Amino acid sequence: MSDTTRRPADCGEALERLFEFLDHEIHEADGDRIRQHLADCEPCLAEYDVEDHLKRLVKRSCHDQAPEQLHVRIREQLTILRTQVRES
Ligand SMILES: [Zn+2]
Repeated sequence: MSDTTRRPADCGEALERLFEFLDHEIHEADGDRIRQHLADCEPCLAEYDVEDHLKRLVKRSCHDQAPEQLHVRIREQLTILRTQVRES
């Protein structure tokens, strides 16, 4: 096991693995690192909130899985958010 598993994730990794994290497809240790990062990093937390919100929205509309189109839309949304964070 490398020592990267003991450090909190950085922004790039946290965002990159947000979907895995939300879908619980991520290794528990990695999930903890991402959670740790989100607790400290406001821009990433803002993105996490968007994903979490959309995910709940999908669940409420009686689909277990987000349709492909919605995933695309979420990703577009996150790209916009990321650009805004960088520019601010
Ligand atoms: Zn971050």
